[in-house]
Amino acid sequence: MNKLASTIRCPVCDMKKINRSLLWNYQGINHYFCSRQCLERFKSRPHLFVGDPQHGLSPKQKNQVILKKRRMRLREIISDDLKADLKTSLQSLMGIDAVDFTDQELYVTYDLLQASLEDIEKTIEQAAARLSKGMAEQVKRGLIHYSEECELDNLAHLTKNSDCH
Ligand SMILES: [Zn+2]
Repeated sequence: MNKLASTIRCPVCDMKKINRSLLWNYQGINHYFCSRQCLERFKSRPHLFVGDPQHGLSPKQKNQVILKKRRMRLREIISDDLKADLKTSLQSLMGIDAVDFTDQELYVTYDLLQASLEDIEKTIEQAAARLSKGMAEQVKRGLIHYSEECELDNLAHLTKNSDCH
């Protein structure tokens, strides 16, 4: 068991600090994760993290990092306190590269392999709901799930041409 703990890494984010209660068996192998976020990310698209004979190494195994920058418009000008709150909440997620604000816009840069738009959206909604009902709804309406999912599917199947733009 000690050997397991010292050699295993979270397959999604590479952190050595795994939580033994967060495991999932995929293709006959137990994978251990650092967080519920990473576990869910893996379960939704395991082929992004584990290769197979048909497709070869996974994007993660090839050390690909797909940074995505997403802009969210905010209906209200938000306070500096809320900005700080949102930033702290978002940075507690795995795979967040940067969080920036203008008066009515929020920019989040994240690694598509590690963080999903759903993770980000949920975090923003939770933070926003503490101070402003209208903003949470606006954020929800302003986000588009389709483009991200499309990009991930293309990546997973190593498709050269995409009609997803
Ligand atoms: Zn992880």
